Amino acid sequence: RIAYVNGRYLPIDAPAVQIEDRGFQFSDGVYEVWLVRDGNFLDHAGHLARLKRSLGELRIDLPMSDAALDIALRETLRRNRLGDALVYLQVTRGVSKRDHAFPVKPVRPSIIITIRPAPRAPVAARAETGIGVITTDDIRWKRCDIKSISLLPNVLAKQAAREAGAFEAWLINAGGEVTEGSSSNAWIVTGEGVLVTRPAGDDILNGITRQRIIRIAAAQGLRLEERAFTVEEALSAREAFISSATSMVMPVVSIDGRPVANGAPGSLAGALRESYEAGLEG
Ligand code: PMP
Repeated sequence: RIAYVNGRYLPIDAPAVQIEDRGFQFSDGVYEVWLVRDGNFLDHAGHLARLKRSLGELRIDLPMSDAALDIALRETLRRNRLGDALVYLQVTRGVSKRDHAFPVKPVRPSIIITIRPAPRAPVAARAETGIGVITTDDIRWKRCDIKSISLLPNVLAKQAAREAGAFEAWLINAGGEVTEGSSSNAWIVTGEGVLVTRPAGDDILNGITRQRIIRIAAAQGLRLEERAFTVEEALSAREAFISSATSMVMPVVSIDGRPVANGAPGSLAGALRESYEAGLEG
């Protein structure tokens, strides 16, 4: 595996990150993840726009043009010889003597790109059976709209899910509402067939997959409400699912061990997943 590190292409395990990189010491950075199918970056523009927004909120200046970044992304993918892949991009504020405040004299941000294989079969198989989620308190900060590399609450939530034999953790805020998953957005389908997902705000990451599903729903004339929902509502819903670049649309069949509807993947989630995949080819 080959990684891109500040303009160089290196083996993934090469010693390449500096001790005083602010990403390493402060989690002072942001990231993006693209799904690549047959060599095509899905929703490339959307991910790039979100990256710039995240960087802007943290006042980190991307040290390269869009064109140069695009070349780096594609060249890293090419060197890994993968058609179906996940591309990870991380930008940190750069290397500077450890001090919480920003470097007085600005330093060049660090940019890292890594690639990993994203075979279709395991994800498709998971979508056939559906996944279980657990619920856990949303203990994150108040700017979850920024795709920050500071992911400790998400790490702990995902680990709790794994230890419970579940695939994802749904994060619950002080009001008892589901904000989102540890690395995905959360959805339900009501008994009336209405798609429901939490509105984009400071308390969730506005998923690029989420935005694409909203566009698909609009194009297909599906009813959709962007509003909060609780675990109780999800448990009595017709369907539940998660969305992310990695999982696309993934049916949720149980929450904390209790079945959603009849405990089988829902038909609307399946249809959305198909529409989403069909869009990948176009
Ligand atoms: N929420 C969180 C907390 C995430 O980490 C992710 C995945 N990056 C998402 C939502 C889904 O975003 P996307 O659809 O852009 O992958």
